[in-house]
Amino acid sequence: MSEQPTRPFTAASFNQYLAEHKLMGACCPACHATYLPPRAICPQCHGEALEWVELSGRGKLAAFTSIYVGPSAMVAEGYDRNNPYVSGIVETEEGAKISARILGVDAKQPDVAWIGTPLVVTFVDRGEGDTKSTVLAFSAS
Ligand SMILES: [Zn+2]
Repeated sequence: MSEQPTRPFTAASFNQYLAEHKLMGACCPACHATYLPPRAICPQCHGEALEWVELSGRGKLAAFTSIYVGPSAMVAEGYDRNNPYVSGIVETEEGAKISARILGVDAKQPDVAWIGTPLVVTFVDRGEGDTKSTVLAFSAS
């Protein structure tokens, strides 16, 4: 369907797609498993013919944690002891799991009942020019 040349199955390609606001995974045509972040070789059947697929962006929260002391990029965004954020593992409807920022929840009031919450993908752009990057996030749908 796409006329673009296939990008290598690397974190750099994945991040490039994020910057284009696309959630792309690697799908194994042999066993139909989908991987996030993408992989060049299928861990299940060792197939090497993986293909990029754009995921629906829908999933559910599988696990999460509130982070009070984050990495410097998050501190630069204003997150700290008084303003925590939530990081979680999202299981997409394609069955792939990935770590992402979770938006729309109160990090100060973490609740185990959030597990299973339906989520939709959202792309958070930060920085400008050469330092511009896009963070993968999900929010409650
Ligand atoms: Zn496979």
